[in-house]
Amino acid sequence: SAERFEKKETIDLRKKYIGPSCKIFFSHDPIKIVGAKGQYMYDEKGQHYLDCINNVAHGKHTCTSVYTQSTLKESSQNSNSIFLFSVGHCHPDVVKAGRLQATLPDKLAVCYFVNSGSEANDLALRLARQYTGHKDIITLENAYHGHVSSLIDISPYKFHQLSDTEQNQFVHVASSPDVYRGKHRADHPDPASAYADEVKDIINKAHKKGGKIAAFIAESLQSCGGQVIPPVGYFQQVAQHVREAGGVFIADEVQVGFGRVGSHFWAFQLQGEDFVPDIVTMGKPIGNGHPMSCVVTTKEVAEAFMSSGMEYFNTFGGNPVSCAIGLAVLDVIEKEDLQGNALRVGQYLTSLLEKQKEKHLLIGDIRGRGLFVGVELVRDRLKLTPATAEAQEVIYRLKEQHILLSADGPHRNVLKFKPPMCFTTEDAELVVEKIDVILTELEEALDLKLNNTLAVENESNKRKVSLTLLIIKKYFFNESVHDFAVTGFHFDFISLQFLREAAD
Ligand code: PMP
Repeated sequence: SAERFEKKETIDLRKKYIGPSCKIFFSHDPIKIVGAKGQYMYDEKGQHYLDCINNVAHGKHTCTSVYTQSTLKESSQNSNSIFLFSVGHCHPDVVKAGRLQATLPDKLAVCYFVNSGSEANDLALRLARQYTGHKDIITLENAYHGHVSSLIDISPYKFHQLSDTEQNQFVHVASSPDVYRGKHRADHPDPASAYADEVKDIINKAHKKGGKIAAFIAESLQSCGGQVIPPVGYFQQVAQHVREAGGVFIADEVQVGFGRVGSHFWAFQLQGEDFVPDIVTMGKPIGNGHPMSCVVTTKEVAEAFMSSGMEYFNTFGGNPVSCAIGLAVLDVIEKEDLQGNALRVGQYLTSLLEKQKEKHLLIGDIRGRGLFVGVELVRDRLKLTPATAEAQEVIYRLKEQHILLSADGPHRNVLKFKPPMCFTTEDAELVVEKIDVILTELEEALDLKLNNTLAVENESNKRKVSLTLLIIKKYFFNESVHDFAVTGFHFDFISLQFLREAAD
């Protein structure tokens, strides 16, 4: 057989790596389906089965590619609803799970494959709530964790537009551990403890109201929230407080995982080897554009989820096509040393940007790890007035020169670098050169020059207003909304922000 593993070996691998709630059909005597054609499916020995179920018709009719030789099937032939979960051609799901696990600390041993970052985070919340028996979730200010209802509830990036009464009573929001603009800044002797203490206070307050903490969830580095890099030690302390309260720590690696931070494969590892989350969620880069995602957790959490007695069923989750793609992505990251590239090019990009900061007053802060870098633009380095319109101007001027960059964070004033991991030093030079020119012109227009920090207030205010109006005119009236939406996503929010600014 061309199959890589014997049936028994395949089943053992599944037991080891795949969440036990994902039941195997015909669990007393599972079938290993390796292919399908028309109304038939066949096992590794060539035995054909007439399929009267057809729940998932993956690749059944077009066995043209290597992927479609595998078939994911599920069956509920009797009321016990026993699964047959095809492990298909070289069983990409188990191989993938094993390889992913190899990148993680041993404790994180069980995978659930799902189809989007949102599905992964929603499952993470279910796992946390089932394991702890608690309900409350602590999330960070400006966080975004996904588009489904359960996640909008824990995504202040979105829900801050809702009224108080629409906010979920089980959700608590902690300050973003932002040492540039946040509550506790770089001049604080111990910002990690200060931010973690706030989480402890939130837990205490929740307890007083009768709440019980199921989980703290955070991106390992906040992305939409403005490229925020939490101070080292913050996660360890938060995890300690949360675990003392009976909760778990969920690290969202949907944007920042898979080697992007350069020095490590996972961004949570930047906090140190002594930190291991209880649940890690992965998305976007896992399939390099193909819809797949994953939740990895500990055996204890996975077993608790199973002990609820509820099977976990997901039609497309862990299908062989997605897993084969995921495996190919891991191969490319390794073979092309993309993590190493992220480290080298990221450091170079950051050093070029640091030089720009010496030159341009508009640049308030440069922060990043690997190819995850933020450049925060401010109109005043002391007051940290967000240079929102200027950031929009930068991304539009770059677009005219065929370079795509976005601006994000609560004030949309953080230039967000998160390029493909094959980004080169030449690419870094090109974009920084262009930004240099744009900032020079902007600063001239704004009369912001180094050694001239205290520009005449009135005069520069006048210029700021006219610049903002000019930008609004340019992007809201001359260019179509669609065009704006493509480059400057989250149009509604930005437009609101803009109009508010113009009104100021
Ligand atoms: N978590 C984070 C940090 C994200 O950035 C996103 C998507 N932007 C999600 C979760 C949700 O992922 P998806 O869009 O695949 O559902």
